Formats: sequence, structure tokens, C-alpha cells
Amino acid sequence: MDCIFCKIIKGEIPSARVYEDEDMIVIRDIAPQAKYHYLAIPKKHFADVTEMTEEDAVLVGRMLRKIGDIAASLGLEGGFRLVSNKGADAMQSVPHLHIHILGGEKLSDKMC
Ligand code: AMP
Repeated sequence: MDCIFCKIIKGEIPSARVYEDEDMIVIRDIAPQAKYHYLAIPKKHFADVTEMTEEDAVLVGRMLRKIGDIAASLGLEGGFRLVSNKGADAMQSVPHLHIHILGGEKLSDKMC
């Protein structure tokens, strides 16, 4: 499958990986939109929240809990914002579900 995030997971494309476990990797976004901008990417490929099975929902729930666990180690003690885009209106550019993790500074209150 020609998916950039699957290639990053397999190590075929380099990335700045800050965390990895059996469920997911967390990398630095290549075009940060906040002081700290990470992407939590499940190792299993599915396009977005509308394509999740019940099993995927459990996986994503686990990912959210782990993001909470590692947040402080990523410099996000002051708080963070999670975003997952789906589809054209949200400007999703990579059709492999991922959760943006933004923080490290006061974020704009314009969105969310
Ligand atoms: P989205 O627009 O929600 O699909 O988010 C995709 C994100 O992936 C964007 O914020 C991109 O900057 C980021 N991105 C694309 N390619 C890479 C890469 N090779 N390494 C790290 N982040 C990437």
C-alpha cells in the first residue's frame, strides 16, 4: 500500500520518532503548527474515524490514554490539544488515521 505513514512506521521513510509501542508511533510533525506538534499514528492502517472497527476503537482509546501518560515527557505539562482530521473539509492530507498533539505554548482559541 502506498501510504506515507505506513512507510514511516516500517522505517522506509525517516522520521523523528519520540515514542513507540505495540500500538502506535509518535513522531514530530514535519511542518509544526505549534511549539510542539506531534503525530500519534496507529501501526494498523485505517483511513480515519469513520473507518474504525470496534477493535480499532479500543486501540484508539488506548492510544489516547498513552498520550496522556507520555505528555509530560514530550514537554506538554502545561496542556495540549488533540485533533484528528477527516476528509476534504478538514483538509486531511494523509488518509491513515493520526492524532495531532499540539502544545508547548498557549494555543489559539480560534479553533476548538
Ligand atoms: P492531516 O492534514 O491531518 O492529514 O495531517 C497530516 C500531517 O502529516 C501534516 O501535519 C503534515 O505536516 C504531516 N506530515 C506529512 N508528511 C510527514 C513526514 N514525512 N513526517 C512527519 N510529518 C509529516
